[in-house]
Amino acid sequence: MPELFIGGRWTAAVDGGSREIRCPADGTLVGTVDEAGAKDASAAIAAARDAFDHGPWPHTPAAERAGLLLRVAGLIERDKAALARAESLDTGKRLVESEYDMDDIANCFRYFGNLVAAGSTGRVVDTGNPAVDSRVVHEPVGVCALITPWNYPLLQTAWKVAPAIGAGNTFILKPSELTPHTAIHLMRLLQEAGLPDGVANLVLGAGPMAGAPLSEDERVDMVSFTGGLVTGRRIMAAAAPTVKKVALELGGKNPDIVFADADFDTAVDYALMAVFLHSGQVCSAGARLLVQEEIADRFVDVVVAGARRIRLGGPFDEQARTGPLISAAHRDKVEAYVAAGIAEGAILRCGGARPEDPALKDGFYYRPTVLDSCHAGMTVIRDESFGPVLTVERFTSEEEALALANGTVYGLTGAVWTTDEARAARVAAGLRAGTVWINDFHPYVPQAEWGGMKQSGFGRELGPTGLAEYQESKHIWRNTAAVPQRWFD
Ligand code: NAD
Repeated sequence: MPELFIGGRWTAAVDGGSREIRCPADGTLVGTVDEAGAKDASAAIAAARDAFDHGPWPHTPAAERAGLLLRVAGLIERDKAALARAESLDTGKRLVESEYDMDDIANCFRYFGNLVAAGSTGRVVDTGNPAVDSRVVHEPVGVCALITPWNYPLLQTAWKVAPAIGAGNTFILKPSELTPHTAIHLMRLLQEAGLPDGVANLVLGAGPMAGAPLSEDERVDMVSFTGGLVTGRRIMAAAAPTVKKVALELGGKNPDIVFADADFDTAVDYALMAVFLHSGQVCSAGARLLVQEEIADRFVDVVVAGARRIRLGGPFDEQARTGPLISAAHRDKVEAYVAAGIAEGAILRCGGARPEDPALKDGFYYRPTVLDSCHAGMTVIRDESFGPVLTVERFTSEEEALALANGTVYGLTGAVWTTDEARAARVAAGLRAGTVWINDFHPYVPQAEWGGMKQSGFGRELGPTGLAEYQESKHIWRNTAAVPQRWFD
Protein backbone atom coordinates (compact mmCIF):
# COMPACT_ATOMS: atom_id res chain seq x y z
CA MET A 1 0.00 0.00 0.00
CA PRO A 2 1.36 3.49 -0.81
CA GLU A 3 2.22 5.61 2.23
CA LEU A 4 1.30 9.20 1.39
CA PHE A 5 -2.15 10.13 2.68
CA ILE A 6 -3.79 12.94 0.70
CA GLY A 7 -7.45 13.95 0.70
CA GLY A 8 -8.51 10.75 2.49
CA ARG A 9 -6.72 8.41 0.06
CA TRP A 10 -3.45 6.50 0.26
CA THR A 11 -1.38 7.56 -2.73
CA ALA A 12 2.07 6.88 -4.15
CA ALA A 13 4.50 9.73 -4.76
CA VAL A 14 4.03 11.47 -8.10
CA ASP A 15 7.38 13.21 -8.25
CA GLY A 16 9.22 11.97 -5.19
CA GLY A 17 10.87 8.62 -4.62
CA SER A 18 11.14 6.02 -1.90
CA ARG A 19 13.37 5.37 1.11
CA GLU A 20 14.45 2.29 3.02
CA ILE A 21 13.98 2.69 6.75
CA ARG A 22 16.55 0.72 8.76
CA CYS A 23 16.63 0.18 12.53
CA PRO A 24 19.52 2.21 14.01
CA ALA A 25 20.15 -0.57 16.55
CA ASP A 26 21.30 -3.16 14.03
CA GLY A 27 20.59 -1.97 10.48
CA THR A 28 17.72 -4.38 9.80
CA LEU A 29 15.27 -3.25 7.14
CA VAL A 30 12.06 -1.99 8.76
CA GLY A 31 10.26 -0.98 5.57
CA THR A 32 10.38 1.02 2.35
CA VAL A 33 8.16 4.08 2.11
CA ASP A 34 7.12 6.57 -0.57
CA GLU A 35 8.66 10.01 -0.38
CA ALA A 36 6.92 13.14 -1.58
CA GLY A 37 8.27 15.74 -3.96
CA ALA A 38 6.98 19.26 -4.58
CA LYS A 39 3.93 18.07 -6.58
CA ASP A 40 2.87 15.69 -3.81
CA ALA A 41 3.30 18.41 -1.19
CA SER A 42 1.23 20.74 -3.36
CA ALA A 43 -1.52 18.12 -3.72
CA ALA A 44 -1.60 17.67 0.06
CA ILE A 45 -1.87 21.43 0.59
CA ALA A 46 -4.70 21.59 -1.96
CA ALA A 47 -6.58 18.82 -0.13
CA ALA A 48 -6.15 20.50 3.26
CA ARG A 49 -7.16 23.90 1.81
CA ASP A 50 -10.27 22.44 0.19
CA ALA A 51 -11.26 20.61 3.39
CA PHE A 52 -10.85 23.83 5.37
CA ASP A 53 -12.63 26.15 2.91
CA HIS A 54 -15.45 23.82 1.85
CA GLY A 55 -15.50 20.86 4.25
CA PRO A 56 -17.49 20.32 7.44
CA TRP A 57 -14.65 20.11 9.99
CA PRO A 58 -14.11 23.80 10.89
CA HIS A 59 -17.86 24.11 11.57
CA THR A 60 -18.28 20.79 13.37
CA PRO A 61 -19.56 21.40 16.91
CA ALA A 62 -16.87 21.35 19.59
CA ALA A 63 -18.51 18.39 21.32
CA GLU A 64 -18.12 16.30 18.16
CA ARG A 65 -14.50 17.34 17.65
CA ALA A 66 -13.83 16.46 21.30
CA GLY A 67 -15.51 13.10 20.82
CA LEU A 68 -13.20 12.32 17.92
CA LEU A 69 -10.09 13.14 19.99
CA LEU A 70 -11.31 10.87 22.78
CA ARG A 71 -11.93 8.05 20.27
CA VAL A 72 -8.38 8.47 18.93
CA ALA A 73 -7.05 8.20 22.51
CA GLY A 74 -8.86 4.87 22.82
CA LEU A 75 -7.56 3.61 19.46
CA ILE A 76 -3.99 4.45 20.45
CA GLU A 77 -4.45 2.40 23.61
CA ARG A 78 -5.91 -0.45 21.55
CA ASP A 79 -2.91 -0.41 19.15
CA LYS A 80 -0.30 0.41 21.80
CA ALA A 81 1.79 -2.74 21.29
CA ALA A 82 2.04 -2.33 17.50
CA LEU A 83 2.69 1.40 17.73
CA ALA A 84 5.41 1.00 20.38
CA ARG A 85 7.12 -1.72 18.36
CA ALA A 86 7.05 0.42 15.20
CA GLU A 87 8.43 3.43 17.10
CA SER A 88 11.27 1.36 18.57
CA LEU A 89 12.20 -0.15 15.20
CA ASP A 90 12.35 3.30 13.57
CA THR A 91 14.22 5.06 16.41
CA GLY A 92 16.15 2.20 18.06
CA LYS A 93 14.83 3.26 21.48
CA ARG A 94 13.98 0.72 24.17
CA LEU A 95 10.55 -0.85 23.77
CA VAL A 96 9.59 0.06 27.32
CA GLU A 97 10.28 3.75 26.58
CA SER A 98 8.14 3.61 23.43
CA GLU A 99 5.38 2.05 25.53
CA TYR A 100 5.57 4.99 27.96
CA ASP A 101 5.40 7.32 24.96
CA MET A 102 2.21 5.65 23.70
CA ASP A 103 0.57 6.13 27.11
CA ASP A 104 1.57 9.81 27.00
CA ILE A 105 0.20 10.13 23.46
CA ALA A 106 -3.18 8.67 24.43
CA ASN A 107 -3.21 11.06 27.42
CA CYS A 108 -2.42 13.99 25.13
CA PHE A 109 -5.40 13.22 22.86
CA ARG A 110 -7.58 12.72 25.95
CA TYR A 111 -6.44 16.00 27.52
CA PHE A 112 -7.21 18.03 24.39
CA GLY A 113 -10.49 16.11 23.93
CA ASN A 114 -11.59 17.15 27.40
CA LEU A 115 -10.35 20.72 26.92
CA VAL A 116 -12.30 21.09 23.67
CA ALA A 117 -15.36 19.44 25.28
CA ALA A 118 -15.27 21.98 28.12
CA GLY A 119 -15.90 24.42 25.29
CA SER A 120 -15.39 28.10 24.86
CA THR A 121 -18.12 30.35 23.56
CA GLY A 122 -15.65 33.22 23.59
CA ARG A 123 -15.89 36.33 25.73
CA VAL A 124 -18.51 39.03 26.03
CA VAL A 125 -16.93 42.49 26.07
CA ASP A 126 -18.47 45.35 28.03
CA THR A 127 -18.18 48.33 25.67
CA GLY A 128 -20.11 50.68 27.93
CA ASN A 129 -22.79 50.97 25.27
CA PRO A 130 -25.90 48.84 26.03
CA ALA A 131 -26.91 48.96 22.35
CA VAL A 132 -23.76 47.08 21.34
CA ASP A 133 -23.34 43.33 21.57
CA SER A 134 -19.55 42.80 21.50
CA ARG A 135 -17.96 39.34 21.61
CA VAL A 136 -14.53 37.82 21.04
CA VAL A 137 -14.76 34.33 19.52
CA HIS A 138 -12.10 31.75 18.72
CA GLU A 139 -11.83 30.28 15.25
CA PRO A 140 -9.39 27.79 13.71
CA VAL A 141 -6.28 29.26 12.07
CA GLY A 142 -6.81 27.31 8.84
CA VAL A 143 -4.40 25.00 7.04
CA CYS A 144 -1.53 23.99 9.33
CA ALA A 145 1.80 22.46 8.30
CA LEU A 146 3.07 20.26 11.12
CA ILE A 147 6.76 19.34 10.83
CA THR A 148 8.24 16.96 13.40
CA PRO A 149 11.60 15.37 14.43
CA TRP A 150 12.78 11.77 14.89
CA ASN A 151 13.54 11.58 18.60
CA TYR A 152 9.95 11.29 19.89
CA PRO A 153 8.20 10.86 16.53
CA LEU A 154 4.59 10.18 17.51
CA LEU A 155 4.69 12.13 20.77
CA GLN A 156 5.80 15.35 19.06
CA THR A 157 3.20 14.69 16.37
CA ALA A 158 0.42 14.23 18.95
CA TRP A 159 1.28 17.54 20.64
CA LYS A 160 0.46 19.23 17.31
CA VAL A 161 -2.22 17.04 15.71
CA ALA A 162 -4.51 16.84 18.77
CA PRO A 163 -4.86 20.62 19.34
CA ALA A 164 -4.85 21.37 15.59
CA ILE A 165 -7.88 19.20 14.85
CA GLY A 166 -9.41 19.94 18.25
CA ALA A 167 -9.54 23.61 17.24
CA GLY A 168 -11.08 22.77 13.84
CA ASN A 169 -8.06 23.14 11.55
CA THR A 170 -6.94 20.94 8.68
CA PHE A 171 -3.32 19.88 8.43
CA ILE A 172 -0.43 18.42 6.46
CA LEU A 173 1.93 16.39 8.62
CA LYS A 174 5.59 16.01 7.57
CA PRO A 175 7.34 13.68 10.03
CA SER A 176 11.09 13.09 10.02
CA GLU A 177 12.16 11.10 6.98
CA LEU A 178 13.98 8.73 9.38
CA THR A 179 10.94 7.70 11.45
CA PRO A 180 7.72 7.64 9.37
CA HIS A 181 5.93 4.48 10.50
CA THR A 182 3.91 5.64 13.50
CA ALA A 183 2.72 8.71 11.55
CA ILE A 184 1.37 6.37 8.87
CA HIS A 185 -0.41 4.35 11.57
CA LEU A 186 -1.88 7.53 13.10
CA MET A 187 -3.49 8.48 9.76
CA ARG A 188 -5.29 5.11 9.77
CA LEU A 189 -6.54 5.73 13.30
CA LEU A 190 -7.78 9.25 12.47
CA GLN A 191 -9.66 7.81 9.49
CA GLU A 192 -11.10 4.99 11.64
CA ALA A 193 -12.20 7.55 14.26
CA GLY A 194 -14.21 9.34 11.57
CA LEU A 195 -12.18 12.42 10.67
CA PRO A 196 -13.54 13.78 7.35
CA ASP A 197 -11.40 13.36 4.23
CA GLY A 198 -8.83 16.08 3.64
CA VAL A 199 -8.57 17.19 7.28
CA ALA A 200 -5.48 15.01 7.87
CA ASN A 201 -2.82 14.71 5.19
CA LEU A 202 0.58 13.04 5.35
CA VAL A 203 3.63 13.70 3.22
CA LEU A 204 6.84 11.76 3.87
CA GLY A 205 10.33 12.68 2.81
CA ALA A 206 13.38 14.80 3.47
CA GLY A 207 13.02 18.39 4.69
CA PRO A 208 14.13 20.28 1.59
CA MET A 209 11.93 18.11 -0.70
CA ALA A 210 8.75 17.47 1.25
CA GLY A 211 8.95 20.01 4.08
CA ALA A 212 10.18 23.23 2.49
CA PRO A 213 7.19 23.64 0.12
CA LEU A 214 4.87 23.61 3.15
CA SER A 215 6.48 26.66 4.76
CA GLU A 216 6.62 28.59 1.48
CA ASP A 217 3.14 28.00 0.06
CA GLU A 218 0.61 30.82 0.47
CA ARG A 219 -2.25 28.32 0.88
CA VAL A 220 -0.77 27.31 4.25
CA ASP A 221 -1.79 29.56 7.17
CA MET A 222 0.49 28.27 9.90
CA VAL A 223 3.67 26.24 10.35
CA SER A 224 4.27 24.48 13.64
CA PHE A 225 7.77 23.06 13.71
CA THR A 226 9.74 20.96 16.19
CA GLY A 227 13.38 20.33 15.38
CA GLY A 228 16.81 21.88 15.28
CA LEU A 229 17.69 25.58 15.54
CA VAL A 230 19.20 25.83 12.04
CA THR A 231 16.11 24.31 10.42
CA GLY A 232 13.89 26.52 12.57
CA ARG A 233 15.61 29.64 11.27
CA ARG A 234 15.14 28.40 7.69
CA ILE A 235 11.45 27.73 8.24
CA MET A 236 10.87 31.13 9.83
CA ALA A 237 12.56 32.81 6.85
CA ALA A 238 10.61 30.69 4.34
CA ALA A 239 7.33 31.57 6.07
CA ALA A 240 8.03 35.32 6.13
CA PRO A 241 7.02 36.29 2.57
CA THR A 242 3.49 34.94 3.11
CA VAL A 243 3.37 36.12 6.77
CA LYS A 244 2.32 32.77 8.16
CA LYS A 245 1.76 32.17 11.78
CA VAL A 246 4.85 30.29 13.02
CA ALA A 247 5.45 28.23 16.15
CA LEU A 248 8.95 26.87 16.80
CA GLU A 249 10.02 24.22 19.31
CA LEU A 250 13.79 24.09 18.91
CA GLY A 251 16.78 22.73 20.76
CA GLY A 252 18.10 23.15 24.27
CA LYS A 253 21.37 23.34 26.19
CA ASN A 254 19.79 22.68 29.51
CA PRO A 255 21.53 23.27 32.86
CA ASP A 256 21.19 20.84 35.77
CA ILE A 257 22.33 22.94 38.77
CA VAL A 258 23.39 21.06 41.88
CA PHE A 259 24.07 22.97 45.10
CA ALA A 260 26.18 21.52 47.91
CA ASP A 261 23.14 21.20 50.19
CA ALA A 262 21.23 18.98 47.70
CA ASP A 263 20.31 15.38 48.50
CA PHE A 264 23.53 13.94 47.04
CA ASP A 265 22.43 10.45 45.98
CA THR A 266 19.16 11.62 44.42
CA ALA A 267 20.86 14.44 42.53
CA VAL A 268 23.48 11.99 41.14
CA ASP A 269 20.79 9.54 40.09
CA TYR A 270 18.79 12.23 38.29
CA ALA A 271 21.89 13.81 36.71
CA LEU A 272 22.53 10.49 34.95
CA MET A 273 18.91 10.10 33.82
CA ALA A 274 18.67 13.76 32.79
CA VAL A 275 21.39 13.43 30.15
CA PHE A 276 21.67 9.75 29.22
CA LEU A 277 17.96 8.94 28.75
CA HIS A 278 17.46 7.91 25.08
CA SER A 279 21.22 8.45 24.63
CA GLY A 280 20.81 12.18 25.11
CA GLN A 281 18.52 12.56 22.09
CA VAL A 282 16.03 14.57 24.12
CA CYS A 283 15.44 18.30 23.60
CA SER A 284 15.15 18.83 27.36
CA ALA A 285 18.25 16.74 28.20
CA GLY A 286 20.25 17.96 31.19
CA ALA A 287 23.45 18.06 29.15
CA ARG A 288 25.19 20.70 31.30
CA LEU A 289 25.95 19.74 34.88
CA LEU A 290 26.66 22.83 37.01
CA VAL A 291 27.89 21.66 40.38
CA GLN A 292 28.95 23.63 43.44
CA GLU A 293 32.69 23.54 44.12
CA GLU A 294 32.50 21.97 47.64
CA ILE A 295 30.98 18.71 46.37
CA ALA A 296 32.10 18.80 42.72
CA ASP A 297 34.95 16.26 42.73
CA ARG A 298 33.01 13.65 44.69
CA PHE A 299 29.81 14.29 42.72
CA VAL A 300 31.50 13.94 39.33
CA ASP A 301 33.34 10.76 40.43
CA VAL A 302 30.03 9.09 41.28
CA VAL A 303 28.38 10.33 38.06
CA VAL A 304 31.29 8.93 36.03
CA ALA A 305 31.05 5.57 37.79
CA GLY A 306 27.30 5.52 37.04
CA ALA A 307 27.83 6.46 33.38
CA ARG A 308 30.32 3.60 32.96
CA ARG A 309 27.73 1.12 34.25
CA ILE A 310 24.99 2.08 31.73
CA ARG A 311 24.30 -0.89 29.51
CA LEU A 312 23.74 -0.23 25.81
CA GLY A 313 21.50 -2.39 23.65
CA GLY A 314 18.72 -2.63 21.10
CA PRO A 315 14.99 -2.03 21.64
CA PHE A 316 14.22 -5.58 22.70
CA ASP A 317 17.23 -6.17 24.98
CA GLU A 318 15.60 -6.09 28.41
CA GLN A 319 18.94 -5.62 30.16
CA ALA A 320 19.79 -2.50 28.13
CA ARG A 321 19.22 0.90 29.70
CA THR A 322 19.74 3.06 26.62
CA GLY A 323 20.01 2.58 22.87
CA PRO A 324 21.81 3.76 19.75
CA LEU A 325 21.98 7.15 18.11
CA ILE A 326 19.59 7.67 15.22
CA SER A 327 22.07 7.48 12.32
CA ALA A 328 25.71 7.18 11.32
CA ALA A 329 25.71 10.87 10.39
CA HIS A 330 24.40 11.86 13.81
CA ARG A 331 27.04 9.72 15.57
CA ASP A 332 29.72 11.39 13.44
CA LYS A 333 28.40 14.75 14.64
CA VAL A 334 28.52 13.70 18.30
CA GLU A 335 32.06 12.35 17.86
CA ALA A 336 33.22 15.62 16.30
CA TYR A 337 31.60 17.54 19.14
CA VAL A 338 33.46 15.50 21.80
CA ALA A 339 36.74 15.89 19.88
CA ALA A 340 36.20 19.67 19.78
CA GLY A 341 35.62 19.71 23.54
CA ILE A 342 38.83 17.80 24.24
CA ALA A 343 40.77 20.03 21.83
CA GLU A 344 39.48 23.09 23.73
CA GLY A 345 40.65 21.71 27.08
CA ALA A 346 37.84 19.52 28.47
CA ILE A 347 38.96 16.42 30.36
CA LEU A 348 37.44 13.16 29.11
CA ARG A 349 36.39 11.21 32.22
CA CYS A 350 34.56 8.33 30.52
CA GLY A 351 33.13 7.27 27.16
CA GLY A 352 34.30 9.26 24.18
CA ALA A 353 34.22 6.13 22.01
CA ARG A 354 32.03 3.54 20.37
CA PRO A 355 31.44 0.37 22.41
CA GLU A 356 33.72 -2.58 21.73
CA ASP A 357 30.99 -5.22 22.19
CA PRO A 358 30.78 -7.07 18.82
CA ALA A 359 27.03 -7.55 19.37
CA LEU A 360 26.59 -3.77 18.93
CA LYS A 361 28.79 -3.34 15.85
CA ASP A 362 25.91 -2.92 13.36
CA GLY A 363 24.20 -0.17 15.40
CA PHE A 364 25.08 3.50 15.82
CA TYR A 365 26.08 3.23 19.47
CA TYR A 366 28.19 5.69 21.43
CA ARG A 367 29.28 5.26 25.03
CA PRO A 368 27.94 7.61 27.73
CA THR A 369 30.53 10.36 27.93
CA VAL A 370 31.48 12.85 30.66
CA LEU A 371 33.62 15.89 29.85
CA ASP A 372 34.97 17.55 32.99
CA SER A 373 36.54 21.00 33.53
CA CYS A 374 34.41 22.72 30.90
CA HIS A 375 33.89 26.46 30.85
CA ALA A 376 31.87 29.13 29.08
CA GLY A 377 33.00 29.79 25.53
CA MET A 378 33.74 26.16 24.67
CA THR A 379 31.94 24.63 21.69
CA VAL A 380 30.61 21.87 23.96
CA ILE A 381 29.00 24.45 26.25
CA ARG A 382 27.56 26.50 23.38
CA ASP A 383 26.20 23.89 20.92
CA GLU A 384 23.61 21.17 21.39
CA SER A 385 25.22 17.72 20.93
CA PHE A 386 21.94 15.82 21.08
CA GLY A 387 23.98 12.80 22.17
CA PRO A 388 25.06 11.02 25.38
CA VAL A 389 27.52 13.71 26.42
CA LEU A 390 27.54 15.44 29.83
CA THR A 391 29.66 18.55 30.33
CA VAL A 392 30.70 19.62 33.83
CA GLU A 393 31.15 23.21 35.02
CA ARG A 394 31.88 24.20 38.61
CA PHE A 395 30.53 27.25 40.45
CA THR A 396 30.94 28.80 43.86
CA SER A 397 27.96 31.15 44.34
CA GLU A 398 24.26 31.22 43.44
CA GLU A 399 24.83 34.29 41.25
CA GLU A 400 27.57 32.52 39.33
CA ALA A 401 25.39 29.41 38.88
CA LEU A 402 22.57 31.52 37.39
CA ALA A 403 24.92 33.46 35.13
CA LEU A 404 26.44 30.24 33.79
CA ALA A 405 23.04 28.58 33.38
CA ASN A 406 21.64 31.53 31.42
CA GLY A 407 24.83 31.98 29.38
CA THR A 408 23.41 30.22 26.33
CA VAL A 409 21.26 31.20 23.36
CA TYR A 410 18.88 28.41 24.34
CA GLY A 411 16.16 28.53 27.00
CA LEU A 412 14.15 25.32 26.97
CA THR A 413 14.52 23.71 30.41
CA GLY A 414 16.63 23.79 33.55
CA ALA A 415 16.74 22.17 36.97
CA VAL A 416 17.93 23.19 40.41
CA TRP A 417 18.84 20.78 43.23
CA THR A 418 18.88 22.25 46.74
CA THR A 419 17.21 21.76 50.11
CA ASP A 420 17.01 25.54 50.61
CA GLU A 421 13.47 26.49 49.54
CA ALA A 422 14.17 30.20 49.26
CA ARG A 423 17.17 29.54 47.02
CA ALA A 424 15.14 27.13 44.88
CA ALA A 425 12.51 29.83 44.36
CA ARG A 426 15.13 32.46 43.49
CA VAL A 427 16.91 30.23 40.97
CA ALA A 428 13.62 29.08 39.40
CA ALA A 429 12.64 32.73 38.96
CA GLY A 430 16.06 33.64 37.55
CA LEU A 431 16.32 30.89 34.95
CA ARG A 432 15.36 32.02 31.44
CA ALA A 433 13.73 28.73 30.40
CA GLY A 434 10.25 27.56 29.48
CA THR A 435 10.30 24.73 32.05
CA VAL A 436 12.12 24.68 35.40
CA TRP A 437 12.30 21.66 37.68
CA ILE A 438 13.10 21.92 41.39
CA ASN A 439 14.60 18.67 42.71
CA ASP A 440 13.46 16.74 39.65
CA PHE A 441 14.24 16.37 35.95
CA HIS A 442 12.20 15.66 32.80
CA PRO A 443 8.60 15.26 34.02
CA TYR A 444 5.86 17.00 32.10
CA VAL A 445 2.08 16.74 31.99
CA PRO A 446 -0.24 17.63 29.10
CA GLN A 447 -2.03 20.17 31.33
CA ALA A 448 1.09 22.37 31.55
CA GLU A 449 2.56 24.44 28.72
CA TRP A 450 5.82 23.31 27.07
CA GLY A 451 8.15 25.46 24.99
CA GLY A 452 11.24 27.58 24.89
CA MET A 453 12.53 31.06 25.55
CA LYS A 454 15.26 32.79 23.53
CA GLN A 455 16.44 30.66 20.58
CA SER A 456 14.71 27.54 21.88
CA GLY A 457 11.73 28.94 20.02
CA PHE A 458 8.40 30.60 20.59
CA GLY A 459 4.82 29.51 20.96
CA ARG A 460 3.74 26.85 23.42
CA GLU A 461 2.56 23.26 23.10
CA LEU A 462 0.28 21.50 25.59
CA GLY A 463 -1.90 23.20 28.19
CA PRO A 464 -4.62 25.71 27.27
CA THR A 465 -2.03 27.80 25.36
CA GLY A 466 -1.24 24.73 23.25
CA LEU A 467 -4.84 24.81 21.99
CA ALA A 468 -4.92 28.61 21.65
CA GLU A 469 -1.86 28.35 19.37
CA TYR A 470 -4.16 26.82 16.74
CA GLN A 471 -6.89 29.46 17.13
CA GLU A 472 -7.46 32.98 15.88
CA SER A 473 -9.36 35.50 17.97
CA LYS A 474 -12.09 37.42 16.19
CA HIS A 475 -13.91 40.43 17.63
CA ILE A 476 -17.55 40.64 16.50
CA TRP A 477 -19.26 43.98 17.18
CA ARG A 478 -23.03 44.13 16.66
CA ASN A 479 -24.73 47.48 16.89
CA THR A 480 -28.41 46.84 17.73
CA ALA A 481 -29.48 50.49 17.43
CA ALA A 482 -27.57 51.95 14.48
CA VAL A 483 -28.82 55.40 13.35
CA PRO A 484 -27.16 57.85 10.93
CA GLN A 485 -24.16 59.56 12.53
CA ARG A 486 -23.95 62.43 10.00
CA TRP A 487 -20.17 62.48 10.47
CA PHE A 488 -19.70 64.53 7.29
CA ASP A 489 -22.60 66.90 7.77
P1 NAD B 1 15.78 18.73 12.11
O1 NAD B 1 15.67 20.18 12.28
O2 NAD B 1 16.92 18.17 11.35
O3 NAD B 1 14.48 18.14 11.42
C1 NAD B 1 13.18 18.32 11.96
C2 NAD B 1 12.16 18.19 10.85
O4 NAD B 1 12.32 19.26 9.92
C3 NAD B 1 12.27 16.91 10.03
O5 NAD B 1 10.99 16.45 9.70
C4 NAD B 1 13.01 17.39 8.78
O6 NAD B 1 12.78 16.58 7.65
C5 NAD B 1 12.38 18.75 8.61
N1 NAD B 1 13.13 19.71 7.78
C6 NAD B 1 14.47 19.78 7.59
N2 NAD B 1 14.76 20.82 6.77
C7 NAD B 1 13.59 21.42 6.45
C8 NAD B 1 13.24 22.54 5.66
N3 NAD B 1 14.15 23.27 5.03
N4 NAD B 1 11.94 22.88 5.56
C9 NAD B 1 10.99 22.17 6.21
N5 NAD B 1 11.26 21.09 6.97
C10 NAD B 1 12.55 20.71 7.09
O7 NAD B 1 15.73 18.12 13.58
P2 NAD B 1 15.90 16.61 14.01
O8 NAD B 1 17.35 16.25 13.84
O9 NAD B 1 14.87 15.76 13.35
O10 NAD B 1 15.50 16.68 15.57
C11 NAD B 1 16.41 17.03 16.55
C12 NAD B 1 16.21 18.46 17.01
O11 NAD B 1 14.86 18.65 17.42
C13 NAD B 1 17.06 18.82 18.20
O12 NAD B 1 17.64 20.08 18.02
C14 NAD B 1 16.06 18.86 19.35
O13 NAD B 1 16.45 19.66 20.42
C15 NAD B 1 14.83 19.35 18.67
N6 NAD B 1 13.63 19.01 19.44
C16 NAD B 1 12.99 19.99 20.15
C17 NAD B 1 11.87 19.69 20.93
C18 NAD B 1 11.16 20.75 21.74
O14 NAD B 1 10.12 20.46 22.31
N7 NAD B 1 11.67 21.97 21.81
C19 NAD B 1 11.39 18.37 20.95
C20 NAD B 1 12.05 17.40 20.22
C21 NAD B 1 13.17 17.73 19.46
